[in-house]
This record gives sequence, structure tokens and C-alpha cells, in this order.
Amino acid sequence: MTASSPRRVMTIFGTRPEVIKLAPVIHELQKRSQEFQVTNVASGQHTELLDPFVKLFDLPIHHRLDVFTPGQSLNTLCGRMVAALDPILEMIAPEVVLVQGDTTSALAGALAAFHRRIPVGHVEAGLRSGDPARPFPEEMNRRLITRLAQWHFAATPRNRRNLLAEGIDRGSIAVTGNPVVDALKTILHRHQRSPRLSDLLTRTQGMRRLVVTTHRRENLGHEMATNLQVLAEFVEQHSDVALIFPVHPNPAVQQTAREVLAGRERVWLTEPLDYLDFIGLLADSWLIASDSGGIQEEAPTLGKPLLVLRDVTERPEAVECGIARLVGGSPQRLRAALNDMYWQRENSFHAVPNPFGQGDSGPRIVQALADFLRLPTPLPEGFDLGSKQGTMRAPARSAPI
Ligand code: UDP
Repeated sequence: MTASSPRRVMTIFGTRPEVIKLAPVIHELQKRSQEFQVTNVASGQHTELLDPFVKLFDLPIHHRLDVFTPGQSLNTLCGRMVAALDPILEMIAPEVVLVQGDTTSALAGALAAFHRRIPVGHVEAGLRSGDPARPFPEEMNRRLITRLAQWHFAATPRNRRNLLAEGIDRGSIAVTGNPVVDALKTILHRHQRSPRLSDLLTRTQGMRRLVVTTHRRENLGHEMATNLQVLAEFVEQHSDVALIFPVHPNPAVQQTAREVLAGRERVWLTEPLDYLDFIGLLADSWLIASDSGGIQEEAPTLGKPLLVLRDVTERPEAVECGIARLVGGSPQRLRAALNDMYWQRENSFHAVPNPFGQGDSGPRIVQALADFLRLPTPLPEGFDLGSKQGTMRAPARSAPI
């Protein structure tokens, strides 16, 4: 492919999973600099969590929105992001905007681009839990982004089927795997650990490390407190188990974690870890208990058993490959799963072929994008060609990239 002028691609991200998952895509776009010119916008959704990840993956940030204030509602956050993105979209005039996943940043980015008639590419398209309120607001965000997006990069064949079932044109979907696997494999090769993690591993040497993360909105409050209580009792009953919980900075999570777990024996509450340390910790863990989405995608490659603190998942592939088990919904379910894991005679878990990708998703997404950009751009559903609003800005069929 030869290019006279590279195609302008804008990426928008605001949370750590978005950085982790867009980094392999951005690196590939940078590699193909004859064809693509990339502008990265940090939406400011989780500023303090984001920076170590941006630094680790060496991502240039070209624009940073200043929209975050503690305690603001999702509506305020979303509205402020759309407004703040608008002048940047106007100035850069990207030919495509890439968003990832299901956060408020991704929704705001897709909506702002749509309003400017800029095609949206959705990385990690087609996840569905089936319950519009779980996870909240992510499941609805995903569904809305699907309606707004022009091109859909689905991680798995199931994700593709979900999109087809909603009437998405098959020609606009590419099955690419999830770039989280690319990111994870890169990090696994680096084997670096901070003194902080080394210290934690030394103190818990010889123990079964139970790594916990939980911060999903729908789990906040009673549900989270109950889960943590069950985990605390389990640790109390087993003197060879150490619980390590990198606590999300959300004040509601911090408060519950402190109330239920602070001061207990063999329980370590830490700050959120950077990706190198966190993956290092997971790799040396006995068991993971988490409500995270990304960890469900990482566990198969790591070969670590995962108790998913949810009662539905949009990633059933993790359960089907034998690594994950859904334990949300009742304390008995979590308690029973912990005991099953503890009394298993041998650890029968090992790395399995990852259903979410093989580590080549960044290149596959960028190639699919290149292919999509060569096609005439289909109008989004419901777009009225005859309306006075004019036509969607679309790359010409013959435009080289
Ligand atoms: N993670 C991390 N440090 C931590 C906790 C999580 O690097 O202290 C990583 C984890 O490996 C996964 C991602 O952050 O890739 C998950 O982020 P989160 O749970 O916030 O979001 P979700 O995956 O649920 O969208």
C-alpha cells in the first residue's frame, strides 16, 4: 500500500483497561506511519490511575481533557467529555475515531465523533451480558456504541454473532482477538518488579496468595461488603492464605475495603499497582477473585483460576475454557467456591489457549481498519441520505492509504 498522505486516526481513552487495550493498536498505527497518523486523546476519566500505564506503554498524549471532578454524576462526566472533545475533533478532523470497550469515555468519544459525522471504529465490540443493567453502565454503553459505530472489531466469534443478532452488517465486523492479550504477552516478557512488589512477595512467601480486585459500580455497597466479608473469613480460617487487594481509588471502594479488611492478619491492602507489578503478582498468585472484565481475559494466558464476583458475564469464553467460575449473587456461592479451590488436591490449572486472542490483535485491528477504509463508507443505520444534514464524510473508494 502506498500513501500520499496518511489517514488521520484519533484514539480516545480514559481508564487503565482502555490504555492497556489500545496500546497495541496505537503501536501498530505508529509502525504504519506511512498510512496512518495517530492523535491520542486522554479523556481525563481516571487521571491518577492512567499515567503509569501511559508511561509504561510509552504512548504520546496529544490532548488531555480536564473534565474530572470527584463525585460528579455519569451525566455530568459524559456531557463534559462530549463538549470538551468537540473542538479537538473540529481542529484535527480525524477520518476515523477509535474507541475501546464500554466506558463513559468510549461512549462520549463515539457520540462526539458521530455528531461530527466522523466514522467510529469500536475495539472490543459485541460483548453482551444480556442484562442492560449489569455491568452498569457498561452493558448499555456497549450497546449504544454499537449503534454509533461504523466498524466493529470483535474479539471472538461469539462477539461477532452478538452483533449480527442485532442486525449489524456483517461486512462491517472483523474478528480480531482482544489486544489485551498482546499487551499481557509483552509485559510477561519484561519480568521487572518494583521494590514494592518484591517486598510484598517476600512477606507472603510460601503462602497461597489470593489476589482480589473489585470496584464495579453495581457491586458497590452491600454486595461488595458481603463479598469482602466472606473473603476475610476464609483468610481467617486458613493460616496459609494471604489476601492481597490493590484497592481502586474510588472513595466508596476505599471505605468498604477499610471497614471490612483493615487491620486483619494476612491481609494486604495496597494502592492500585502498575501493570508490570499487577501481572507479576497475578503470575505468582494461587487464586484470583475479581469483578474485573480485563482480568477474565488475562487469566487464561496466566493459567490462574479466577472467581468472578458477578452473577452474569459478558465474557462466557473465560468460563467455558475452564479458568473462570461465576460466584456472584450469594455469599454461599463464593464461600463454596473458595473451599473447593482450597481443598483441591492438586492445582489442576495451567495456561490454556486464550479464547480472547493470540497476541496479534493490534496488527489485525489495524489491517482490518485499513481494509475498511478502502471501502465506500456505509451510512449509519437510520441516517437519511436525503436530509438537509448532508452526507457523512467518507473516504473515497479509491483513496489510497
Ligand atoms: N490492573 C492493574 N493494576 C491493578 C488492578 C488491575 O494493572 O491494581 C489491570 C488488570 O490487569 C486489567 C485491568 O487493569 O488489565 C483491569 O482494569 P479494571 O478492573 O479497572 O477494568 P475492567 O477490566 O473491569 O474494565
